[in-house]
Parts: sequence; C-alpha cells; structure tokens
Amino acid sequence: MVQLLLLIAGSFVVAWVWALAANHWAMRAWRKTADEHWTQRARALFPARAGAGLQLVLIPTILALAESRFILHGYGWPTAAMAATACAGVLLANRRMGQQIYGRARPFSRAPLFSFVRILALSPWILLIAGIFAMPSDLGPDTFLAAAGILLWFLLLTLGTWWQILYRLGLLRDADQQLRARINTLAAQMNVRVRRVWIFESWMANGYASPITREVLLTSALCEKLPPTELMAVCAHELAHLGESRWVKFRRHTAFLAFYPLVFANPIAASFPIGELLAIVWAALALLALVLSQRMARRMEVRADSCAAENAADQATYARALERIYQINLIPAVMSGRRRIHPHLYDRMLAAGVTPDYPRPLPPRHFTAATWIQLALLFLLAMHVHSSVTISVSSKPQWITPSGGHQGAQQQQPERHGTKQGPKEFHI
Ligand SMILES: [Zn+2]
Repeated sequence: MVQLLLLIAGSFVVAWVWALAANHWAMRAWRKTADEHWTQRARALFPARAGAGLQLVLIPTILALAESRFILHGYGWPTAAMAATACAGVLLANRRMGQQIYGRARPFSRAPLFSFVRILALSPWILLIAGIFAMPSDLGPDTFLAAAGILLWFLLLTLGTWWQILYRLGLLRDADQQLRARINTLAAQMNVRVRRVWIFESWMANGYASPITREVLLTSALCEKLPPTELMAVCAHELAHLGESRWVKFRRHTAFLAFYPLVFANPIAASFPIGELLAIVWAALALLALVLSQRMARRMEVRADSCAAENAADQATYARALERIYQINLIPAVMSGRRRIHPHLYDRMLAAGVTPDYPRPLPPRHFTAATWIQLALLFLLAMHVHSSVTISVSSKPQWITPSGGHQGAQQQQPERHGTKQGPKEFHI
C-alpha cells in the first residue's frame, strides 16, 4: 500500500517536472520573438500551447501505463489514481506557462476551478467516449441506466445548467447595470431577446453565446481591455448567435446526438451477427453529422461577423475589436488547417472592410518536437502494453486488488460477457 501511495504521489511530481521541462523547451521559439510583431509571436507560441493542452492527456496516460506495466505489473484503480495526480501535475505546469505568456498570476485558490470549467465543457463527450468503450456486452438495467445518465448530463448542460454550475462556484457574476442596459439597447436594435449577461473572470479576452438559453458570457479581460464601442461590436456578434433559427440551434447539437447511440455499440456488436458492421456504419454517419454541423457552425460565425460589422459604430470598429482580442490572447492571425469553425482573423478583418497593416502571416506549425516525441513514446508504450496484455490474457493476468496486492486470474476473473478479446478491464 505504501508503494502504491508513493507511486501516486510520485506521478504528480514527475508529471509536473516533465511538463515544465517540455513547455520550456517548446516555448524557446516564442522566447526568441520578443521584439517581433504580435502576429509572429502568436505564430511561434501556437504549437507550444497546443502541445501543453495535449500533454494533459499524453503525460498522465504515459505515466499511468508505464507504472502499471513495469512496476505494479497490473491495471486497476491505482492506474486511474496515478493518471489523476499526473493530470494535476501537468495542470500546475501549464499554469506556470500561462503566467509566462500573460505576465500575471490568477488567484491560486481559483486555479483548479478554471481547469474544471474546461473539463465541464467537454464532460458530455468524455462521458460518451468512456461509455462507448466501457459499456458491457450484455444489455442489462445497468447499461440503460449509464446510457440514460450520459444523455441526461448532456441535456442538463445544453439547457443551461452549465452556467448555473459556474455561477454557484463563484466563477460567473452578472454584468453591471450600465453594461446590461447598453447590451439591452443593442439587442432591441438587432431584434434579439437576451435573458442574462454573465461576466467570467479570465485573462483571456473572449465572448460566448448560448443560443438555446439566450445567455451571453463576456470575460473580464474583454470588458476591461476593449474600448466601449469595440466591446459593443463584439456583443453584437454574440447577440447575432442568439438570433439564430431554432433549426440551427438544434443542429448545433446533432453531432453529439448522432454519436450517442454508439454507447450501445458493445452490446449490439456482441448480440447481432452484423452488429460490428452496424456500429462501424453508424460511426461513419455520425462523423458525417459532425462535419456537417461544423460547417454550419462556420457559416453561423460568418453571419455573426457580418451582423456585428453592420451594428458597430462603423465597420472598422468591429475589425479593430477582433484584432485586439487576437492580440491580447496571442492567437495567430492565420491558423493551420481550413476546417476551423472561426475564419482566420486576417480574413475576418478583410470581410469587415479593413485590410490589416501587415502582410498575411504564414500559418503556425501544429506541434513542436517535444509533442512529437511524447506522441511517439505513447505509441510505443501502447504497442508494448497491448502485446503484453494479449499474452497475459492467454496465460495468467494480474489484477491489482483494493489492498494493493496481486491475484491470479483464476482467483479474481471478471465475467467475460462472451467477448473474443478477454475482459474489457485490461484495455485502459
Ligand atoms: Zn461566434
């Protein structure tokens, strides 16, 4: 048990130091651009920041798999505990990276809550993916209960519980009366109804809209750093999302609903002769629904941009507001890839009638060498674990008991539910 606790605590320290070193290495190109135009700084920073986000998954997975495979020789709850503490270590290192970029620290006591916000936003998808892979092969009451729980959580968040959770945690506050009155006037001018305006404490300048619940969220940095006319232009963009048709609002969530039936993929694949084929065909259709909903979301961004430019004091005001936001957040003016929901800043400014006073920057790289090395490490480890699991399933797999000891497969073997590959619990 002591060994387990040491490993769990050690995972935090190793992940923290590892992520600090990886971030430091990945940010070296950014550090060299201190005197360059902000678009070049943003371009140099992008792959380091993308890598830091990916490390939240990569480092905990690598550490938990390696420790379970090479030290504990088994997988169980300690694997999850080691991954969780490693994740906390990476979060702490990434927080340091944020301080280096933006030059100021958020109140420490609130730091875990900001990470919680990100996890909360992704939680329906995390639950769905976990449900798809962890669902047992037989259709019992537990299967339906778990599936219903995932759908209920998605509906609750979609219908506004998400904002209430943030409000109860003290991360949201109502906009002051003056700002609220100006937004109400703008909403009336745009013929849109807005139910509530929230302020979210953040050093990133941004605005969000919840079309279904008719709520708008502005970050504190946006309200503090943008001149009033530019702030109203950004609000016009968010209000334009509230004015979308009901059909569009529904289609924004079709991707999740299309993937949702796959939560029954395991039992269907095990129960019907063509079950596996059915699940693959459904996954392909869901992927198509995801692509279509992304395209629609992009069209809605272009529409909201055009509404914002129309309702701003003058067209250039909206373009300047966008540029200021990207500059504050150090987001590249031209991103890599063409399938992003928001058009590139450079194109958004051109569409608003303003030609930026700098040449069109090249898109940034996707990842730094640090991220590629970690991806390769995870791939090699996964291959090794997969091959050793296949061998151990056919001989005598090891399970970690709650007391930390090991038992042979004959003593504590879970039901196999008739699957061909052995118990699910061997696949992390
Ligand atoms: Zn938008």
